[in-house]
Amino acid sequence: MKSFDVYKLWPIEPVKGLGCRIWDSEDNSYLDFYGGHAVISVGHSHPSYNQAIIDQLQKISFYSNSVLNPLQTELSQLLGKVSGYNDYSLFLSNSGAEANENALKLASFHTGKKRVLAFNDSFHGRTSGAVAATDNPSIVSPFNSGHHVTFVPLNNIESVNQELSQNDYAAVIIEGIQGVAGIFEPNQPFMIELRKVTQERGVILILDEVQSGYGRTGRFFAHQHHQIKPDIITTAKGMGNGFPIGGTLISPLFIPVSGMLGTTFGGNHLACAASISVLKIIEEEQLISQAFEKGEYIKERLNEISNSNKGVISQIRGRGLMIGVEMAPDYIKVRDSLLFDKKVFTGGAKSNVIRLLPPLTVTYSEIDEMIQCFQECINIVKKGQK
Ligand code: PLP
Repeated sequence: MKSFDVYKLWPIEPVKGLGCRIWDSEDNSYLDFYGGHAVISVGHSHPSYNQAIIDQLQKISFYSNSVLNPLQTELSQLLGKVSGYNDYSLFLSNSGAEANENALKLASFHTGKKRVLAFNDSFHGRTSGAVAATDNPSIVSPFNSGHHVTFVPLNNIESVNQELSQNDYAAVIIEGIQGVAGIFEPNQPFMIELRKVTQERGVILILDEVQSGYGRTGRFFAHQHHQIKPDIITTAKGMGNGFPIGGTLISPLFIPVSGMLGTTFGGNHLACAASISVLKIIEEEQLISQAFEKGEYIKERLNEISNSNKGVISQIRGRGLMIGVEMAPDYIKVRDSLLFDKKVFTGGAKSNVIRLLPPLTVTYSEIDEMIQCFQECINIVKKGQK
């Protein structure tokens, strides 16, 4: 049997990771400013994280959700404390898509309605409801398209009001910062109004923090920059630093009913141990405030590059360590050059946006190294144009 061939693969085989660096099978070292789709939060192979998983493995790695698992309680309490959502409850799953699927289901159970409002260019995952709420028709099958989802432009409160006035919506789902779209942030007045109108109309507000959460933007969740409290928050990626885990944080508004949600693997012992360790490291190493400061530094250095290379960078967006660098059309190749000429991993979006999503433990000297590579790659691309 061979793998079902759906991924575009780079000819690179990582075999080792440490902090913000990975090594391939030929022992080349790479700077990791992507963290494998924003997953690596506390750095590759963090010693306490590795030890926590090893220790748990030597006790018990898995049992089903039909027995007591105090690790789930420990994780819920710690996540409540670190995120400031002590009064919410936590349902654990295995991925971002599942976290969103459960959020959409809960909203529909609660309201008895099925319509969902989502935003242009959104990405919420690939399970049935999550992909239906994703604004990318090429990944929505006819089977998924039976859902009742309407898309409106981000930051356009009039469109939201117009839709919600029909009084048949269960939920609005929105990313804390749109990631796959190329790093676009909902603005504060919009978020405040969105919270107000959803509350007034009894529509569940779901904040998808799968990519923007876990301290990456300088607050635990990106929406916390806007002082609003959604009804449901979803998380995954940075939550397990590579160990698959997803979480749906649920406000006290919702009453759990036995069997209404469920999963075999979600909340298993190993995933909980990994995730508890991530939160402890985030706290001990004060990674949330660092994410903000390091992000400001990266943007400052990128602005210097932009000012001294006119016409190369169109826009720099984002908060903390979730940064989008929109390249002018002639400089799209800078991303490939970073990877193949300078061995720096970055993410892409929409063919002309470079996404920077490094581990929160990235050091200032690694940032300086990336910035120097960025400038050198611009020079390489410029040379290639002559
Ligand atoms: N939501 C957002 C905002 C994401 O960026 C992603 C993945 O990129 C998902 C949901 C889906 O997460 P997963 O791939 O873990 O299912």
